[in-house]
Amino acid sequence: MLSRKLLALVAPEGLLLVATTALVYWTASFPAAGPVVRLYPSVVLAAGIFLGWRFQRGRLLLALFALALADRALTWLIAPASAASYAGPATVRLVAMLLPATLAVLAFIAERGVLTAVGLRRFALLMGGAALVLAAWLLADVRPADTARVLEATLLPAPFLTGLPVGQPAAAVTLIAIGALVARTIWRPDAQTRGFLWAAIGGVVAVSVGPVGGRSTLYFANAGLVLVVATVESAYAMAYHDELTGLPGRRALNEALQRVDDLYTVAMVDVDHFKQFNDTYGHDVGDQVLRMVAERLSQVDGGGRAFRYGGEEFAVLFPDRSCDESLPHLESLRRSVCDAAFTIRGKNRPRKKPESGRGRGGGAGKVTITVSIGAAQARDAATADDVVKAADRALYRAKEAGRNRVEV
Ligand code: GH3
Ligand code: MG
Ligand code: MG
Repeated sequence: MLSRKLLALVAPEGLLLVATTALVYWTASFPAAGPVVRLYPSVVLAAGIFLGWRFQRGRLLLALFALALADRALTWLIAPASAASYAGPATVRLVAMLLPATLAVLAFIAERGVLTAVGLRRFALLMGGAALVLAAWLLADVRPADTARVLEATLLPAPFLTGLPVGQPAAAVTLIAIGALVARTIWRPDAQTRGFLWAAIGGVVAVSVGPVGGRSTLYFANAGLVLVVATVESAYAMAYHDELTGLPGRRALNEALQRVDDLYTVAMVDVDHFKQFNDTYGHDVGDQVLRMVAERLSQVDGGGRAFRYGGEEFAVLFPDRSCDESLPHLESLRRSVCDAAFTIRGKNRPRKKPESGRGRGGGAGKVTITVSIGAAQARDAATADDVVKAADRALYRAKEAGRNRVEV
């Protein structure tokens, strides 16, 4: 389980980073590829800006600008400085500090649009960061010793921590930023957060390889690509997943039904007396119940997959299974929902006294939620639509027969 989680954390973006490394070496040993490869960062940047603009993704745009600024800082501010000057190293240290920190902050703040007041303020802040790099670059030329004293400060006097390539302050900031991103990615493994993590990792690699031969630019472009892909991925997830329960939605069910073979079973699951429950305890508690039911349904075994069909109705699809084979799994789902005594939270006290027949779940504040399930299996000629309808009819019979049961 954990290894699968780790793999999901590393898989697509880690491969992209490896591909970028291959590209860097390929360009180095094959100069004719240069012009094409040099286009790649601009294409990524243009695509990202377009996407950010159309989807109103302020955080994507800010992250892309941060990457572009870091790239230009390394390319323009290091080369002209003489070897004796501290301006180059100061630039590297500041970029090494500000870039991961910016990406980490962006991962934690909410999306607030592009040309909104908040969006513009964030943009101004980013420009402030760029000005800081420029200021450090100028200062390092005039007062190299003082600048170095700050940027190479020893925070921990451990011998293995002296002589870090970017100095201890920048290394510490990078470590904290990446650590925060890793923690958030494990905590909330959504595409957006993972994108920011891998963009930060790409940024660190870019800073450490340096601008020679356009290498850092390629790594920055890779980081930008990761962010663009993450934005597309999260838009996809939004379209196919229900926000309240996190289950795949009806569109996902319809597509899954197009992919199944001849034999499969569809079950429709409907919460019993849910309208009454909503009226009694309020819509918020109703939402909590839907989340709880979705949680239980998502744990279906026997190869089943749960979907939120709409409202308080769910569907479970068993590919390659007959009704008889699916039945025990549906029965255990029904029991699992019924056994989950739902606790009414204090701040959502019932407005009315619960009616008799509710609150059977034992202690005070506990209610029992039940679901009725209707299942149907695909026969040779039946279309997916017919199967869903048949399952719906079975569900209706389950309701008629007294609810909290499974009918076929
Ligand atoms: P039955 O046992 O026959 O299924 O009765 P029921 O009350 O569950 O059936 P009905 O379909 O009449 O009621 C469904 C209710 O579900 C209506 C609506 O208030 C509620 N509902 C639908 N979607 C949501 C939602 O997203 N959140 C909440 N809290 N309630 C919802
Ligand atoms: Mg209903
Ligand atoms: Mg219902």
